[in-house]
Amino acid sequence: GIRLEKLRKSFGGNEVIKGIDLDIAPGEFVVLVGPSGCGKSTLLNLIAGLETVGSGDIFIGGDKVNKVPPRDRDIAMVFQSYALYPTKTVRDNVTFGMETRRVPKDDQAAALEEFARLLQIDHLLDRKPGQLSGGQRQRVAMGRALVRQPEVFLFDEPLSNLDAKLRIEMRTEIKKLHQRLGKTVVYVTHDQIEAMTLATRIAVMDNGHIRQFADPATIYENPVDMFVAGFMGSPP
Ligand code: ATP
Ligand code: MG
Repeated sequence: GIRLEKLRKSFGGNEVIKGIDLDIAPGEFVVLVGPSGCGKSTLLNLIAGLETVGSGDIFIGGDKVNKVPPRDRDIAMVFQSYALYPTKTVRDNVTFGMETRRVPKDDQAAALEEFARLLQIDHLLDRKPGQLSGGQRQRVAMGRALVRQPEVFLFDEPLSNLDAKLRIEMRTEIKKLHQRLGKTVVYVTHDQIEAMTLATRIAVMDNGHIRQFADPATIYENPVDMFVAGFMGSPP
């Protein structure tokens, strides 16, 4: 799981994470929603170690990780832009993450085979990213995260570049994968249906604060304030 305690972060004089406490149980699928600029990506980057903590603490699997470099945290992140290596094949793009984790060679081959089949990219392994569709690229990015077999997955609007049909397909796949692997997920999206269908709990964020953290039905039926009601909740 993940625990955040009194977490704060400023850029220059601008505080964007304003004292966040959050306790995410192992295996939970938390969807983070909120208006543009409220701090969602910054919060994920802090958990991933891509931004330094201003003050407060971050725990992953019970260990304080404030000073642990990103590659030594038990996490994998998937971004909105897939950030594949354009000159490497799909196979090398996927296994690169394993090399950085120093997974034994035999296990690498087995994991590659398993996840490539699961994500339906097994016929694309010798291609370069430029020869793939957006949805295929997204699957490769997902494969690269999966083969690392971390305890925690961080997704920052991973489906926002896909067309409506693919989004629905990938949403279903992500849900199945989560049910099968049971890993902890924090998932940022602007899509309310994605939030309602994927989340075990939804965290509604506004201006550096978490306004409500509850299961989808509670957020929808019992929003704590007008902001949450306006953003996620049912009409008053
Ligand atoms: P969106 O939904 O548009 O992706 P977000 O909720 O992910 O928004 P963040 O990217 O976390 O928002 O940004 C939060 C605030 O911090 C914004 O005001 C942004 O301009 C600012 N910010 C983010 N990164 C930096 C940075 N590296 N330097 C300065 N300001 C930053
Ligand atoms: Mg963002």
